[in-house]
Amino acid sequence: MRKKIVAGNWKMHKNAQQTAALLQDLMAKIPATTEAQVIVAPTFVNLASAVTQLESANIGVAAQNMHQAEGGAFTGEISADMLTSIGVKTVILGHSERRSLFHETDALIAYKVDTALAHEMTVIFCFGEELKDRQSDNHFNIVENQLKDGLFHIANESWSKIVLAYEPVWAIGTGETASPEQAQEMHEFIRETVRKRFGAEISDELTILYGGSVKPENAKEIFSKPDVDGGLIGGAALKADDFLAIVSAI
Ligand code: 13P
Repeated sequence: MRKKIVAGNWKMHKNAQQTAALLQDLMAKIPATTEAQVIVAPTFVNLASAVTQLESANIGVAAQNMHQAEGGAFTGEISADMLTSIGVKTVILGHSERRSLFHETDALIAYKVDTALAHEMTVIFCFGEELKDRQSDNHFNIVENQLKDGLFHIANESWSKIVLAYEPVWAIGTGETASPEQAQEMHEFIRETVRKRFGAEISDELTILYGGSVKPENAKEIFSKPDVDGGLIGGAALKADDFLAIVSAI
């Protein structure tokens, strides 16, 4: 049985006090056992305190990004070693905002993937088409290329460290969600693409999250689809009640 995950990507929200308060709220309200592994991704400056605060809680901590180099003169950047040294073992890579606003290419993301894997980190690999791609019926091609260019160079053993997050760009922060059928169709395509290259043992075990305007109201229907193994949540992860309602929808 593959792992189910609900992860909250907090993006550039929540200062130190707000981070502590939201984590406190999550810890107080989270059910003792959840079917999904729960992960939160606060900003860099709050990661160390989040790890400490969540020490005895059943909530993991992920970074939203990292630099590909081991270290060096890269003003303002954060390395894999820095993350693991504070107990962060998971990193979100290839988010559409990194791709579009910070010009990250497939090749750069592939490099980051390699660095994360070299540090035995788990990667939440994000990808997804833009509206124009879907309108021109090119969405499967785009998604396939992002997947291949970013990940298909890795070794079979490394797939146990990979979580995929399909996030159609047109559904991120727009309130417009992919329909459960659209999500299922793409997730099935993604799993099949991985199976063709790496085999069924790997593709069957691969957790594929959906992201893009997931809310308490639509989570259950999306998560009910056979190839949707959880969600990567943006806006709705910023309130404990909403996020936990989504966690419970698994
Ligand atoms: P929203 O849930 O706000 O649409 O954001 C999704 C996302 O980008 C998660 O990484």
